[in-house]
Amino acid sequence: MKTRSQMADWPRSEISRRRLLQGALGATSAALVAGFPGSARAVGRLSLGGSEILTVTDGKLAFPMSFFYGSVPKEELDEVLTSNNLPTDVVRPDCNVTILKREGRTILFDAGSGPHFMETAGRLPANLEAEGIDLSDVSDVIFTHAHPDHIWGVLDEFDDLLFPNAAFHIGQAEFDFWTSPDVLDQIGPERQSFVSGAQTRLEALSERMNFIKPGDEVIPGVEAIRTFGHTQGHLSYAIHDGSEQLVVIGDAISHSAISFAHPEWQAGSDHQPDVAAETRTALLDRLAAEKAHVVGYHFPDPGAGIVEKSGGAYRFTPLA
Ligand SMILES: [Zn+2]
Repeated sequence: MKTRSQMADWPRSEISRRRLLQGALGATSAALVAGFPGSARAVGRLSLGGSEILTVTDGKLAFPMSFFYGSVPKEELDEVLTSNNLPTDVVRPDCNVTILKREGRTILFDAGSGPHFMETAGRLPANLEAEGIDLSDVSDVIFTHAHPDHIWGVLDEFDDLLFPNAAFHIGQAEFDFWTSPDVLDQIGPERQSFVSGAQTRLEALSERMNFIKPGDEVIPGVEAIRTFGHTQGHLSYAIHDGSEQLVVIGDAISHSAISFAHPEWQAGSDHQPDVAAETRTALLDRLAAEKAHVVGYHFPDPGAGIVEKSGGAYRFTPLA
């Protein structure tokens, strides 16, 4: 990897090389993802009042099931998974980035993984361009939290900013957590790369970062909702238009089957599993009561649907 000063000597050739690489990577990733259900260029389209909302995939991740739900009795877990026609050994979450176009602004909710997390992700830039959205047209990036699959995508393979004209917005509590001196003690040594990765990006964005707290109107019509627990400062966002709303959940509800059937089950991906479980149940209750449209970052692409009560728990119904 080149340093910034080395790159300054030959900006033109780097830019064209980046474009070439993007093309090549795009083709490779598309082929990789083609083996999974869903398409590499999944796009969902929603309308909310006069707002245009898209979801564009950043690709897929893959984890052993035990990473997420190792603390849950296996027979009960397998029952939920098999009744939803899902594999029991591995989780392959989609990554749905929500895009709001309103009054000349193009607003992204999270930024994907970029080129350094998993080979099957990092497709957002190519997919945005395929949708006719130039990276320089992005006016705002609003983060739910600073995990790799949500914030690493602000930098390209040369560590340059991918959205040159955007303002960035993150929860103050989330920023404070990742930049606190004892973050490693809180998060565990196995997540050391998450810490250095988040710190690098937060530093790169420092001059353009706006800090927000639950209840704030981040931009007109977009309200931050406190959903702490997945990370210490995780936020979800309600996009309002007249009487309608769409809630960008982020990872407060992370699995479209398990989180709904058993919101109380603790997930290994949550930093504070007990807080996250309380948050999840409260959020599901609100979303079902308000009949809100939702987008789950890791629900099967395009990730949009509604939340309903079902028996003593909940059910996710994808939008047709
Ligand atoms: Zn995530």
